[in-house]
Amino acid sequence: MSNTWTPVQTALAAIQNLVSPITDTESIDLFSALDRVLAESVFASINVPGFDNSAMDGYAVRAVEANTRMPLQVVGNAYAGHTFVGELPAASCVRIMTGAQLPTGTDAVIMQEQVERTDEQIICQTDLQVGDNVRLCGSDIKQGTTILTAGQRLTPVHLGLLASIGIAHVKVVRKLKVALFSNGDELIQPGQSLPSSSHLYDSNRFVLNGMLQRLNVEIHDLGRIPDNPKALEDVFKQAMQSADVVISSAGVSVGDADFTKDVMSKLGHIEFWKIAMKPGKPFAFGKLGSSWFCGLPGNPVAAVVTMNQIVQPMLRNLAGEQCSAVTTFTAEASCVINKRPGRTDFQRGYFEQKEGKLFARPVGSQSSALLTSVARANCFIILEQDRDSVSAGESVTIQPFDRFMI
Ligand code: AMP
Ligand code: MG
Repeated sequence: MSNTWTPVQTALAAIQNLVSPITDTESIDLFSALDRVLAESVFASINVPGFDNSAMDGYAVRAVEANTRMPLQVVGNAYAGHTFVGELPAASCVRIMTGAQLPTGTDAVIMQEQVERTDEQIICQTDLQVGDNVRLCGSDIKQGTTILTAGQRLTPVHLGLLASIGIAHVKVVRKLKVALFSNGDELIQPGQSLPSSSHLYDSNRFVLNGMLQRLNVEIHDLGRIPDNPKALEDVFKQAMQSADVVISSAGVSVGDADFTKDVMSKLGHIEFWKIAMKPGKPFAFGKLGSSWFCGLPGNPVAAVVTMNQIVQPMLRNLAGEQCSAVTTFTAEASCVINKRPGRTDFQRGYFEQKEGKLFARPVGSQSSALLTSVARANCFIILEQDRDSVSAGESVTIQPFDRFMI
């Protein structure tokens, strides 16, 4: 194992270079498509809206006539889904509801609050322009334009866009298959009693499983594996049969019970990195047969941070997603933040806006064993590798937690 520390960006770039997106696709029902990655761009085969229609409940008129303030005879009704059929004589109008097709010959809609109505006649009370309160054909989506591009992860609004052009099935990249297990003799499953004071509950697998659910992958949860080379070898062999990615937590540091390295070196090609990040130093990455392997540190916060910063981008890339850059902001440190140069810190922080300015502070102890520090935080305060302690008032980069975090 190399003794040099790998900068975070170097690790990310190395993984990015090695991993290429899966290309298997499937056609699925629009109802099942939330959070799936589009395999091909989608073009609009129709205009949306498909016809000029009213944006208001009111009266469809010829603007030039209405502006003379002459009384206009109401000659019919236009409802959503029910077009007014017929010619409009001079000095007439049609009662129209929101979403109804604009009758032929009319060019504007007067809001019902802006007319004086007596029996079957109205008088316009406002200055009207041609096109007022009219939603034009194709004003949302123009026929022939691209509405979504390959690699977009579908949001609820995307589903609505697809539905609005009549699409019931979409071609998406197949779901990633991700195997997950925890490693350690000390780990007990929630719901069981702790056999001794040296045992603890397996929390990592629940955090990691949840983060994988958010990425909408197919999860093969393989439970907890003891610190035993034979058991580890068996689980790796099982996981690499079917998974695109195998993720484990713990056992990748240099302790006497960390067998993962020996076992994996036998089964595949794995790099053991000391990533220059805090928390999260030990990290294993490589290939087991045709599966990728990510070995996360065991400390709960280190597992969350490496999962978020390193594994999630890799999974998104592997799933064919075109990811936009992570959103970060500059905030003012509202207190001293302790740091030593040498590693990039991902401190758990709390940011808030006061008088139009962002302020951030760490949320108490930064020990990588304290999962509560992540629960109390709403952002990472990212302190660059070479940076020393930060004084109150200095600028820092923050990365608000996104929906993939907690
Ligand atoms: P290791 O990487 O095996 O040296 O583990 C580092 C620390 O993380 C130890 O204190 C472990 O008890 C703890 N740890 C490992 N796995 C888990 C887990 N699944 N849930 C909670 N803590 C864990
Ligand atoms: Mg261990």
